[in-house]
Amino acid sequence: MNNLFWEKQAEKLDWFKKWDDVTTGEKPYLNWFTGGKLNASYQCLDRHIKNGSGEKIAIHWENELGENQTFTYQEIYNEVNRLACGLSDLGVKKGDVVVIYMPMIPRAIFSILAVARVGAIHTVVFSAFSYKSLKDRIIDTKAKYLMTADYSLRRGKFINLKFVVDLAVHETAIKKVIIAKRTDLSLSLDSRRDVLYSDLIKNSKDYFEPVAVESNDPLFILYTSGTTGKPKGIVHSTGGYLTYVNYSFGAAFGGAKNGVYWCTADVGWVTGHSYVVYAPLMSGATSVVYEGTPDFPNPSIWWKLIEKYKVSTLYTSPTAIRMLRKLGEKWMENIDLSSLKVLGSVGEVINPDIWYWFFDRVGNKKCPIIDTWWQTETGGFMIAPKIDYKLSDLKPGSPTLPLDGIEVDIVDENGTSIPNGQKGFLIVKSSWPGLTKGVWGDNKRFEEVYWSKFKDNYYSGDYAIKDENGYIWFLGRSDETLNIAGHRIGTSEIENATIKNQKVAEAAVAAIPDRIKGQNFALFVVLKESDLDLDDLRAEITLTLKIEIGALVKPAKIYFVEALPKTRSGKIMRRVLSSLLQKTDVGDLTTLENISSIDNIKYTIKLDKI
Ligand code: ATP
Ligand code: MG
Repeated sequence: MNNLFWEKQAEKLDWFKKWDDVTTGEKPYLNWFTGGKLNASYQCLDRHIKNGSGEKIAIHWENELGENQTFTYQEIYNEVNRLACGLSDLGVKKGDVVVIYMPMIPRAIFSILAVARVGAIHTVVFSAFSYKSLKDRIIDTKAKYLMTADYSLRRGKFINLKFVVDLAVHETAIKKVIIAKRTDLSLSLDSRRDVLYSDLIKNSKDYFEPVAVESNDPLFILYTSGTTGKPKGIVHSTGGYLTYVNYSFGAAFGGAKNGVYWCTADVGWVTGHSYVVYAPLMSGATSVVYEGTPDFPNPSIWWKLIEKYKVSTLYTSPTAIRMLRKLGEKWMENIDLSSLKVLGSVGEVINPDIWYWFFDRVGNKKCPIIDTWWQTETGGFMIAPKIDYKLSDLKPGSPTLPLDGIEVDIVDENGTSIPNGQKGFLIVKSSWPGLTKGVWGDNKRFEEVYWSKFKDNYYSGDYAIKDENGYIWFLGRSDETLNIAGHRIGTSEIENATIKNQKVAEAAVAAIPDRIKGQNFALFVVLKESDLDLDDLRAEITLTLKIEIGALVKPAKIYFVEALPKTRSGKIMRRVLSSLLQKTDVGDLTTLENISSIDNIKYTIKLDKI
């Protein structure tokens, strides 16, 4: 695709100075809109105030206690300006790194925007990470400032974040810690280091001139989910990134301009950055921001929020949908979900079975499912249905086609394009402005992981197939792909078939070596209900796999477990299952959410051996 197309997209933003060149430099370090100057908070706030939309509601916030607050664009603008003044007074300046370790409270979003307003670089760390994970990220980024809250709230419990921060900042470069107080609980402060958020904005000025940064200056660093290994500190630019998230949000969700938009992701993940903060605010949308899980205080909470705020676009993840389905449809009874017009999914393959449930039961067969394939590294959606697709253009389980401007291909080991219908590695051939600027402080890793396998083409690390209509079907991570007697089988092919069984809530495949076939697999299954005859179920699942995929696909073992190991962003960590089975080193577990699942899995494996 040509530069003219991207130039048109960039023109939709407000630039303080127009770019001299659309691109300069070379892949993988291509610069976009070189010489152009802009500010991210200006894109999200000032432009709406200037065009008279300041009174529009930007955010309806609510937490699991039912506490709620509503903010207009003007109100957010006022607070972000004051906070930016306060940060600047503390010494935060262009190019500094500011760690934001906050739960899903409005002040997390204000902090992100204020850091951007002063031209600094934010690095948001998911607030349920341990002190060790937080410390690793502080050290890796060499940050001098950290913003946090006194407490986070999760499933009825207050968690002392300040305590975690005190441990994490010890012997790091952090000089100032800013704390947003949300409770009356007492707090011990270090007078030289700690500053209250409320004190910072109390006496500060009403306006902070947004710092004009060059288009390629970094806007943020964000660590990946860690599904496949040690998280990578992905760097995003300002101009290219904002252009791309704005463009992709328009293409797939129509900019969510009408109605109310709710993206359930936490600000700690890239979905939270691109599609909770930047895209909807740039677009002038009205969003719901919810601090809470789907099952607390009871499993009807998400449905009630949709009814209460008349949510029209709901963007969530397969793991949340699987959980809601498992919790049961009785929780949806007598709740009006008719405001929903568009549904969206991200994070993993959405198994067709789950897709149908989402489409039928949640969307009442009238809402398109915008299944968006993308990565922390890509900045925004790459492969996704466009908002103007007809329902009949969708295929359950496929994110459909690349967005305009994006060219992908499926290739073999040698990088040769392979015919439709055959499985291979997904690469991106085109250049697009949302692509990461690299791994923070580690160009070598960036070049090795993404650019060494298929020269000049971006390697996604995902295994996929292109069908006769050009639709892309993801089959799982390429390093998790099985090779059974010379046949390559993606983890999701087996999981999709397993989950067809109505008693199954979730399933994951773990590769194991096999003397004859080279490789085989074990299946880990979570059931919707207990008290089932497990031997019958094993036979049923084995038969389904045989019918759906072929006789070759016969699990060496089927384990029924309480939960699958997942990242804190909700993705299944299959590599952990394989390591537990083979008793090898489980590797980096810092992003594992449910550590207790491990004991149950170990126990189940052990019982089976007796
Ligand atoms: P890490 O790179 O640290 O292992 P991660 O890849 O899980 O973590 P993210 O950038 O959050 O970190 O996730 C991107 C990956 O998620 C993709 O490469 C893909 O495997 C998966 N993914 C995301 N959306 C979809 C989707 N709609 N369909 C299929 N897979 C998806
Ligand atoms: Mg990844």
